[in-house]
Amino acid sequence: MESVDVCIIGGGMAGASVAYHLAPTARVLMLEREPHVGYHSTGRSAALYHPQYGSAVIRSLTAASSAFYQSPPAEFGAILSPRGSLVIGRADQQAAFEKHTKMAKASAQKLAQLSAAEVLALVPELRPEAVAWGLFDDLAMDMDVEILLQGYLRAARRHGLKVLTGQAVGAITRLGGRWRVKTADLEIDTRVVVNAAGAWTDEVAGLASIAPLKLIPYRRTAFTFDAPNSESGSRWPMIIDGDEQFYVKPDAGRILGSLSEETASPPCDAQPEDLDVAIAVDRIETAFSFPIKRVLRSWAGLRTFGPDRNPVSGFEESAPGFYWHGAIGGYGIQTSAALGAFAGAAIAGKQLPDELASHGIRTVDLAPARLR
Ligand SMILES: Cc1cc2nc3c(=O)[nH]c(=O)nc-3n(C[C@H](O)[C@H](O)[C@H](O)COP(=O)(O)OP(=O)(O)OC[C@H]3O[C@@H](n4cnc5c(N)ncnc54)[C@H](O)[C@@H]3O)c2cc1C
Repeated sequence: MESVDVCIIGGGMAGASVAYHLAPTARVLMLEREPHVGYHSTGRSAALYHPQYGSAVIRSLTAASSAFYQSPPAEFGAILSPRGSLVIGRADQQAAFEKHTKMAKASAQKLAQLSAAEVLALVPELRPEAVAWGLFDDLAMDMDVEILLQGYLRAARRHGLKVLTGQAVGAITRLGGRWRVKTADLEIDTRVVVNAAGAWTDEVAGLASIAPLKLIPYRRTAFTFDAPNSESGSRWPMIIDGDEQFYVKPDAGRILGSLSEETASPPCDAQPEDLDVAIAVDRIETAFSFPIKRVLRSWAGLRTFGPDRNPVSGFEESAPGFYWHGAIGGYGIQTSAALGAFAGAAIAGKQLPDELASHGIRTVDLAPARLR
């Protein structure tokens, strides 16, 4: 039996960023069920840093993460590169235009309003009838997910983090004021359990006889196809339909497309549905003047949300030493720096760091108790 200060369950972006903050001052062990870290949602994202996306809480977490991504510690490498995002709509999508501009105004977002001609100059591959307006956001950036994930883990390993893959946690019990975490072949004695199990967060809480927070995983499908010409493979911003019926984004010389769907799912190794890919292809071909000759690769991932669509990060009141860290929905990559720092401070018993407080981040907004 191994004895540690903190046992993190889940080797995705959430678990890795917490490990990064805790490893310098605590003995930390990470348990991941799959053969490698980042296997589930973290390895299946669209890799966008979109500071004007999501609720006020999400936007605060994203803004508070920006400095870290702009100048990460040396062992990380470059995380951000310019991309931009462009929401577009047809003449019959005026309600969507009003919704987006109203939201932007209410939250002081800076979006450039583009005419149809300006949108077509930026993306000539769009059909003229598909565009009546555009809203451009030059703050959106591409993120290198692998550099970020491996950077957190490399730095934490330097401080003694141990990562064990192929270890599915099957039991969590309370014993003498500490926790016992069991896998098929390991027994861990720990002061703190961090539940960073992504789509399985409620299930893992159940192993410790803790009531669920009613977090729901939603499937989202993505696929790649060849760019219509060599330029568009890198030049386009991320292009999002005003009613979120699809999006496309350059991705390593190809184009990534998605239906933008949210289909409730049990926690699982999510797989793409052929029909979802076909519907997305049809919508993209309706908006753009080129055919998608072949889907090169398709995949699906789960975006897990709580009832208020904000993340949860905090100790369970009914079970000392059990820390919830999940429900990060479609924002878990872009918010990881701030969320990791938040959880790191809370688990170490420190005050909310000033840097996070100055961005309006409040413990109460992330507390699991708010969902009880
Ligand atoms: C199509 C798509 C596009 C997205 N685009 C973006 C984007 O552009 N920007 C952005 O910021 N976010 C995006 N996201 C969201 C982002 O991917 C997630 O918010 C993030 O990856 C969640 O990280 P996580 O660590 O909570 O979950 P995961 O990466 O799923 O990690 C949880 C881990 O816990 C492990 N686990 C579960 N149960 C156990 C157990 N009992 N024992 C041991 N291990 C266990 C799992 O195997 C898993 O590896 C997107 C998601 C999808 C699906």
